[in-house]
Formats: sequence, C-alpha cells, structure tokens
Amino acid sequence: MTTANEEQLKTCARWINESKRGVVFTGAGISTESGIPDFRSPGGLWERFDPSELSFQNFQSNPRSRRTYWEFYRENWRLSKDVKPNRAHLAVASLEKLGKIVAVITQNIDGLHQAAGNTAEKVFELHGNMWEVRCLSCNALYDWEEILSALEEGKHVEDCGYCGGLLKPATVSFGQSLPLQTLKDAQEYCMSCDLLICIGSSLVVYPAAGLPELAKNSGARLVIINRESTPKDRIADLVIRGEVGEVMSEIMNLLDGS
Ligand code: NAD
Repeated sequence: MTTANEEQLKTCARWINESKRGVVFTGAGISTESGIPDFRSPGGLWERFDPSELSFQNFQSNPRSRRTYWEFYRENWRLSKDVKPNRAHLAVASLEKLGKIVAVITQNIDGLHQAAGNTAEKVFELHGNMWEVRCLSCNALYDWEEILSALEEGKHVEDCGYCGGLLKPATVSFGQSLPLQTLKDAQEYCMSCDLLICIGSSLVVYPAAGLPELAKNSGARLVIINRESTPKDRIADLVIRGEVGEVMSEIMNLLDGS
C-alpha cells in the first residue's frame, strides 16, 4: 500500500520534468513485484543461504562451497526464469524513451531493465548478469543453459575446457571486485546527473550504496523510493515510502505530456 502523499508524487514528477540528465539507480526491490524475492526481506534468499559461505574466496578455494554456490545459482534461476518486467521497470523504460534519463544503474542481475525496453548500452549492471557463465581464468563464455541442465541432472560443473580454470556465473559475489569500467561509468553518471532516483534498494551494499552521496555532493537532487527507510534517507531531497510499482505508475501519470 502506498503511503506516499500526492504532494511528494507531484514534486518528483516536477523534478523529472525539469531534469536534463536524470539517472535511475535500482535494487532488488524493483523486481519483487515480478516475483523475484529480494535478499534481505523476510522469505528472501538469505534466509535459506548463508551469504558468508557464498563468498568469492570460498568459491575459489573450497569445492563444497562451490557446490553450495551452484545450488544457490540454480535457486536464483528457478525464481527468475519465467519472470517479466513489471510496471516499475516499464516506467523506467518510458523515462528513457521520453529523454528524461540518460542511464540506469542497477544492482540487479536479472536483466529486467533491458527486457522492459531500456537500451542495453545505457544499463550499467554493477553486480553482473546471471545469464552468462564465464571462466574465471581465461574469461571464455559458456552456455548457461547447458550448465543448468547438467546441474538439474545432479552433475558437477566441469572446469574450463580451454584452460582448466573455474567456471562461475558472471555475477559479483561477496569479496569479488565489481566490474571496474562499469563502476567507473556509474560513478561518472552520478557525478554529472542533475537528478538521481533510487528505486527499491536498501542502500547498504558498498560501493553501490555510495552512489547517492556522490550524486548529491555533485549537486544533483536525490529521490529515494522504497517501502522501508534506508540509511541514505537523511541526505535525500525527497523520500517516497511505498510500493515501487504503484509509486512509479502514479509519478508517470503526473509527468508533462502524459
Ligand atoms: P536488498 O534486498 O538489500 O533491498 C531491497 C529493498 O527494496 C529493501 O529495502 C526492501 O524493503 C525494498 N523493497 C522490496 N520490494 C519492494 C517493493 N515492491 N516496493 C518498495 N520497496 C521494496 O537489495 P539491494 O539493495 O538490491 O541489495 C543489493 C543486492 O541484492 C545485490 O547484491 C543484488 O545483486 C542483489 N539481488 C538482486 C536481485 C535481482 O536481480 N532481482 C534479487 C535479489 C538480490
């Protein structure tokens, strides 16, 4: 249920109308309405998997942790394989089409912004994408569908056929570096935008959680849309508390020309 008031929605719509270089930053909360649970809410994956066991260091050094990791990947895939973009993703895609935003920065690995119609080159995936599996040593790309069917048959994932390295989904694990160029691009967009709208992120995972501050310190307006409070609310120019699908739909209805 949206608790956002009309005045807040109008203010956000006005700022979008006035913006010349808006940027949207999203977290797992934008995809929950599509049926993908976030990690930290009740029922999220952290209730079933121990994040510390899924660290990159464990993945590299411990075969048992690797098996747990692939089980986690399989569970993620089961949750994500049939999902469709929801009204919040579609609103973000419309903002790009209307020329209101120049980039989407996301912590999500589900690919739903591109599926909604955002241009792939304008979507910066800070934590990678679950639809790719690569060798950690030589970066060779593998067919994730083949790997998943092997897992479904109870087989283990083989090492790289080219160099013997470890295969891993192209998503960023705890303890693994973010893709450097993607992070740099995201930081540059945040430093040069005039409006940053954060949608459905708990804003606790760094370095991604540092982006709102970067935008704010560079002179942008900062809007946070989430169903619960975040540690960055105190620096935001506007905090809208509510369900992101509903809030984004209402804001879209208030934009000029809609
Ligand atoms: P998070 O789970 O920490 O936070 C999600 C936030 O969104 C929470 O504050 C929650 O209250 C809020 N929320 C959930 N559904 C909402 C809704 N419908 N309306 C309004 N608010 C809602 O997620 P995060 O901030 O993205 O944390 C980052 C980590 O989560 C990253 O590592 C990311 O890769 C990962 N993640 C991604 C996916 C995905 O790709 N869809 C799914 C789960 C986790």
